[in-house]
Amino acid sequence: MMKKECPSCAMEIATDCKECPICGYGFVEQTPWIKWTAILLLIIFLLIYFIR
Ligand SMILES: [Zn+2]
Repeated sequence: MMKKECPSCAMEIATDCKECPICGYGFVEQTPWIKWTAILLLIIFLLIYFIR
């Protein structure tokens, strides 16, 4: 099983955990398409801004 480090208590926990079982730190759900959509919109906005 893949492990990730908890940013709150620095303990190694399973990557599929939605929150840390040791300190209860809640991980933000990974939604890459929202991130890429936001980046794409920002690029489009900047292009429109600089072209005109
Ligand atoms: Zn933790």
